[in-house]
Amino acid sequence: MRQPLVAGNWKMNGSRASVAELLDGIKAGLDEVKVAEVAVCPPFVFVPEAQARLQGTAVAWGGQDLSVHESGAYTGEIAGSMLADYGCRYVIVGHSERRSYHHETDALVAEKFAAARKAGLVPIFCVGETLEERESNVTEAVVGRQVDAVIAHCGVEMLGEGVIAYEPVWAIGTGKTATPEQAQEVHAFIRRRVEEASPAVAAKVRILYGGSMKPENAAELMSKEDIDGGLIGGASLKAADFLAICKAAN
Ligand code: PEP
Repeated sequence: MRQPLVAGNWKMNGSRASVAELLDGIKAGLDEVKVAEVAVCPPFVFVPEAQARLQGTAVAWGGQDLSVHESGAYTGEIAGSMLADYGCRYVIVGHSERRSYHHETDALVAEKFAAARKAGLVPIFCVGETLEERESNVTEAVVGRQVDAVIAHCGVEMLGEGVIAYEPVWAIGTGKTATPEQAQEVHAFIRRRVEEASPAVAAKVRILYGGSMKPENAAELMSKEDIDGGLIGGASLKAADFLAICKAAN
């Protein structure tokens, strides 16, 4: 039985004041979240605030990216050990915004996955196709290639120590959600792909859906066999919406 995970990706949003309010709002509504594990991934500078307010609660926190390097002359980068030092459990790797705006390749994402594990963090590893790729019927080829890159670099056992997030790029921040059937189809494909390398890892690895998940569509998406929770962007910035999605996993 895979425990659902609902993780908020706050992206580059918030201020000290709004972050404090959001964290307190999430904490205040946790009692009704019975099933899902909950996590938030704030911008780096707000990670200490997340730690201060969430320590001792059921909510985990994490980073949105990390460096492949452990330390040194890498201006602007953040090492996995630094995130771990602030109590992070998770770190997002390979988000489509990193892949497209920062030209992160499958190989670099795989290195980041390994760097996260080395620092003791649980990577939330994002995969997903663009609209053009979906319309050209290469969704499985693209997602399969992205998954294979991590298996090749890290091994399937290490992949199983992380969480996979299927995020169709065309559904991120656009208000267009994949239908539960469309999402389930790709989730099942991902699980079969992992199964080819290890049936045991395939059975246990959590595969989240991300892309305009909101309170109105969360329960139906998460009711699908291979959808084990959500990675939530926009809707994670409002405590009530985020909590409603967490509760949808009940
Ligand atoms: C995301 O960026 O991970 C995401 C799922 O965003 P949104 O929910 O806003 O589509």
